[in-house]
Amino acid sequence: METIDQVRGAANIVEIAGQYTTLRQRGRKYVGLCPFHAEKTPSFTVDAEKQLYHCFGCGVGGDVFSLVMEKENLGFPEALRHLAERYNIPLPRRGLSPQALKLEEQVQKLNESALAFFRRSLVSTAEGKAASDYLKKRGLSEAVIEEFKLGYAPNAWNALGEYFKAKGVSEGLLEKAGLVLPGRKPGEFYDRFRGRVIFPIFSLTGKPVGFGGRTLFDQEPKYLNSPDTPVYTKGRILYGLNATKEAIRAAGEFILVEGYTDFLSLYQAGFKNVAASLGTALTPHQVGQALRFAPRVIVNYDGDPAGRTAAFRAMPVCFEKGMEAGVLILPGGLDPDGFLRKHGRDAYAGLLGKAVPALQYLIDVSVEGKRMDVPEVKTKVLRSILAVLEAIPDAVVRSEYLRRTAEELKVEESVLRGLSRPSASSPKAAVPAGFLPAEKRLLQILFEDPGLKGEILAEFPESDLQGLKSEPIWRIIIDSFRKKKDIPYPEMQKAIGPPLSRELSEALIEKAGPASAEEARDCLCALEISCREAELRRLQGEIAREERNGERGKVESLLSRKQALILRILALSGRKAEGGGEP
Ligand SMILES: [Zn+2]
Repeated sequence: METIDQVRGAANIVEIAGQYTTLRQRGRKYVGLCPFHAEKTPSFTVDAEKQLYHCFGCGVGGDVFSLVMEKENLGFPEALRHLAERYNIPLPRRGLSPQALKLEEQVQKLNESALAFFRRSLVSTAEGKAASDYLKKRGLSEAVIEEFKLGYAPNAWNALGEYFKAKGVSEGLLEKAGLVLPGRKPGEFYDRFRGRVIFPIFSLTGKPVGFGGRTLFDQEPKYLNSPDTPVYTKGRILYGLNATKEAIRAAGEFILVEGYTDFLSLYQAGFKNVAASLGTALTPHQVGQALRFAPRVIVNYDGDPAGRTAAFRAMPVCFEKGMEAGVLILPGGLDPDGFLRKHGRDAYAGLLGKAVPALQYLIDVSVEGKRMDVPEVKTKVLRSILAVLEAIPDAVVRSEYLRRTAEELKVEESVLRGLSRPSASSPKAAVPAGFLPAEKRLLQILFEDPGLKGEILAEFPESDLQGLKSEPIWRIIIDSFRKKKDIPYPEMQKAIGPPLSRELSEALIEKAGPASAEEARDCLCALEISCREAELRRLQGEIAREERNGERGKVESLLSRKQALILRILALSGRKAEGGGEP
């Protein structure tokens, strides 16, 4: 929590928002063209004092964390890290128990030792010499082998196991690190990587978090990767990004390949803006990570049918994350490594510029082999393309892609749009009426001065929450208050959903005076009055019903409840008038 506050304190929303749009100062606020929707007059407002933003055009809004999450396509932890890096705030690992943190640290250390072991096996053993020769035969230079710390796992059952045993490391821990596997007999373990060239997988900060191994002995599978461990999760990392992120930033785009050898050949040939997805399914995580460095990717998977399909599957992920994409399919079914060795770097550079735009590739593959002259088939294809395009977060880009698709597939644009989800036409229908004035003011006070939280919640009976539009917000505030943990704004937004979070951000950015405990009490009072009044209306209905039924006894008791309720409302109104009556 402390870190979130530190980052919040250090980050300047005007500065961050200024990266996405040009802001002009207007009083204490800044306005500019909204970076989330296309507009000609500025309705995007940033409040420097409250550190909030809100667009009166499209309704987006939130704090500096949600801004970064939205614009950079990051989750909350990543947005926090992103801002922490920018403002040089050291980040402790959150949410992990001390035991889990310790395990993480231990596994990390084991990986570093294992890396040293694999390096040594490659460089200074007779068996490693064969591996070294293999790498050189594949055309990899000494410098690249060194830079990416390639290694070798001896072709034995227990080489690494023995190495760690001598260091007193338990096999259980080695198993957690994914370095050994349990054998048939209990207590028996054997090395995961045997007779393989080792490609260490590095985190963005350059720590070895896992390993990939290519067999030299025709074992299955040809390529084997570390399993998920406390420090490595498949699909979270782009291989090589630690070494190439600056080149990617400079180029404004990167080449995405499938595996280690494609990556290394391209890197060695001077195409340094490259990363590998390791395995063919590109994940939103990987795209999100790359988006921090460049807005555009050229997917260059294998030219075989499997590679083409994988490239096709990568398109929706790119669209969804707002990453501009192109696809390069190399002639002759070649992969990048094979192509470079056969045709050289100039030929490759020439083809790079001819990458097919993502939309075109999506359409081409979708219609391939389909009878587009059959209306039913055509509709099906159109729907499948639409499903992908609808995930594009930017409305302008989405609309443009729809237009181009209509043109390309020769269908009326309006017809194409008509195929799109029906709910999209009336999104506002689901939004109920707005906050009550007191309800809104109370939220403003609470966010303006969180110190008043305890006092406000103590005087806010949960029964009064019922039916308020802000009820879900209050439930979250109460829950986090009880658990003594602060809830970051983006998490709140996620929990309450878009329509309510829009309303909240709009309420919070409104001009309002300084918060005070007295005013909070007035609001609570006003809320209780409206709550009691609603109760009175319900009671009135009940009395009328019982009178019709001739239930005298029930009417009597309801009448006395009504009496008590009226007295309560009068008392509350008096208190409110008193409290609010000071000059
Ligand atoms: Zn907007």
